Amino acid sequence: MMERVYIGLGSNLAEPLQQLRDALAALAQLPDTRLLAHSSFYASDPLGPPDQPRYVNAVAALDTALQPWTLLDSLQRIEQEQGRVRKAERWGPRTLDLDILLFGERSIADERLTVPHYHMHARPFVLYPLAELAAELQLPDGRRLSELLAACPFTGLERLAE
Ligand code: ATP
Ligand code: MG
Ligand code: MG
Repeated sequence: MMERVYIGLGSNLAEPLQQLRDALAALAQLPDTRLLAHSSFYASDPLGPPDQPRYVNAVAALDTALQPWTLLDSLQRIEQEQGRVRKAERWGPRTLDLDILLFGERSIADERLTVPHYHMHARPFVLYPLAELAAELQLPDGRRLSELLAACPFTGLERLAE
């Protein structure tokens, strides 16, 4: 069975736009998975430490037969292949971050995975690109993307030209 998955992509080091393009190419190569679409690219203000470059963000839509934990393994492998170095500092600069935003209708809470992503509702750089792909989306808890957007100003965000 294929499930619809949304992935949040982010980068603020080593040519962020190219990092995202490379990551999309890698997502398209995943086994038992189809890359359906991606949003526009957006420049965004960093979360956390402010003394770091702005990010480039996007959201991708996949259909996959992989289980969530297998997909997470693959995403972490792609992050590593694109030079991500894990540091003690939370939300510090990175070449690539790939987060599972939504995985079908599932709600997951274990030591490795929280799905839906715990903070997506408050992140303009997640919600606005996601709305390009699935304006009618509803979260497993019943909240509509349109409600989340109404409560999340388009702040610190800039849609980039193609
Ligand atoms: P944030 O989660 O606030 O966006 P981050 O993306 O920088 O921060 P990471 O360092 O990329 O955090 O990931 C830390 C851990 O988060 C990972 O080891 C992974 O097990 C866990 N994790 C939990 N839920 C998810 C999810 N939905 N997608 C990706 N990783 C997740
Ligand atoms: Mg993240
Ligand atoms: Mg992450």
